[in-house]
Amino acid sequence: MTEGDTDDLMAALSGLLDHVGELEAVMRSTARGATAEIDELRTVVLEVARRLDQLQPAPEPTSDPEPAPVPHAWVDVAEPDDWAVLGEWVDWLHRTYDLPLKVRVRPCWPAHRGVAEELAALRTSWQAAALAAGQATQPGDDLATWHERHLHPCLDRIRSRYAIADCEDGHTAPLSNRPTDTHLLRPVQNAAVRTPSDLIYRSPRG
Ligand SMILES: [Zn+2]
Repeated sequence: MTEGDTDDLMAALSGLLDHVGELEAVMRSTARGATAEIDELRTVVLEVARRLDQLQPAPEPTSDPEPAPVPHAWVDVAEPDDWAVLGEWVDWLHRTYDLPLKVRVRPCWPAHRGVAEELAALRTSWQAAALAAGQATQPGDDLATWHERHLHPCLDRIRSRYAIADCEDGHTAPLSNRPTDTHLLRPVQNAAVRTPSDLIYRSPRG
């Protein structure tokens, strides 16, 4: 390699280094520009979102809230047809299961509200079990479970836990209700109105 060739090569390298430097400067400048543009774009997007949010119609003031559901007894809300359907179902129950007299529900059951409530619940549970059995794609024990857990325990309760047990020779009006003794209730009510700090457990010794 001649001295002239070396000078040419050095000149070419020097030119390349200058070009690399220029490229680096351009890239740094471009990166700074992109960062600035992204920041500006983010600001614009946030501003557009804020304005859109302002354009949203204000939520309508909620009108009267839905009243909370109130639990009720079947006997308190049953319509005349409901009573008729329940009567037919009780008669169907006696016929279908060929219940002996000592197990049957006495015919004065409509006059015993607790018994009617039990029978209405028993019918509802039978509906659920019979529907489940009818719709099952595989053999199941819905009705067997109903017989064991609902039918016979319910009939036993009706015979043993209700005043209808006294109606063997005809209906006997249930005893008049003995209302709660309000003289004993009032002190309990007064004690119940306490601040949460009063509810902290206190040992018997205080
Ligand atoms: Zn009776």
